[in-house]
Amino acid sequence: MSRLTILLLGGTAEASALAQRIAEDSRFDGTLSLAGVTRSPKPSPLQTRTGGFGGADGLARYLRDQNIDALIDATHPFAAAMSANAAAAAAAASVPAIALLRPAWREQPGDRWIRVPDMVSAAAALGPTPRNVFLTVGRKDLAPFRAAPQHRYLVRSVDPPPPNLLPEDAVFIAARGPFALEDEERLLREHGVQTLVTKNSGGTATAAKLAAARRAGLPVVMIDRPPANGPAVPTVEEAWEWLVARHRDGAPAWRGV
Ligand code: NAP
Repeated sequence: MSRLTILLLGGTAEASALAQRIAEDSRFDGTLSLAGVTRSPKPSPLQTRTGGFGGADGLARYLRDQNIDALIDATHPFAAAMSANAAAAAAAASVPAIALLRPAWREQPGDRWIRVPDMVSAAAALGPTPRNVFLTVGRKDLAPFRAAPQHRYLVRSVDPPPPNLLPEDAVFIAARGPFALEDEERLLREHGVQTLVTKNSGGTATAAKLAAARRAGLPVVMIDRPPANGPAVPTVEEAWEWLVARHRDGAPAWRGV
């Protein structure tokens, strides 16, 4: 049977793990796609393309032009625009598609979560009284916190935010997970953190901050995920099984047209 041509939308640890498996299996011919927002992405064994496709229409064109047989959306659970485009483009180009969406974190005994639907609500949930806030929402989403300057922010992201996005007097730490529990506890102590703000990203790499907040009895402002866009599997293993099944099915009919 011929090789299955795969487009893998990446930017997550799960995408990297899946890329590794695809690269090692001669049944598949895969391309990893990255947005190009991280300065030094981890090298991948798969051939990699970088940058946007030009919306859902651009991606549908790419799927057709590159004869893609299967699309896997393994972008971050908060990459809502890309995921919506992926679902729309796959439908338009009749390409089988699935999202690889790691399970959300769940509140555990001892947690003090304040669940909110978006960044603006997260900033509002901090309240009017000045607090020391550990902000781990990524570098793109800082504007609502800049508009709440009564708080003192410790901001952590993989790459530094543009200075005009950083809240005034914020302390910035550049770091990429995985993070260890004892390091997270030390960080909270050293900066006198009173509240943690995070997206409900799920996964293990950045979960230690939640355990550290639980042990310190700190409230966590938890931003809920945007809604998913179609069929999804929660693990790399299940995404892999889906790919193997697509290979067994053979290329979609439109490839032969
Ligand atoms: P987004 O808002 O959903 O996407 C904005 C635009 O960036 C998309 O419309 C698309 O441009 C382009 N894009 C996004 N992911 C792409 C990919 N894998 N390959 C090619 N183009 C892509 O996404 P985002 O939240 O900025 O995230 C950007 C990347 O960072 C994603 O790959 C995501 O997995 C990763 N990431 C995001 C977060 C987060 O919290 N959002 C956290 C960790 C990693 P066109 O419309 O032109 O195609």
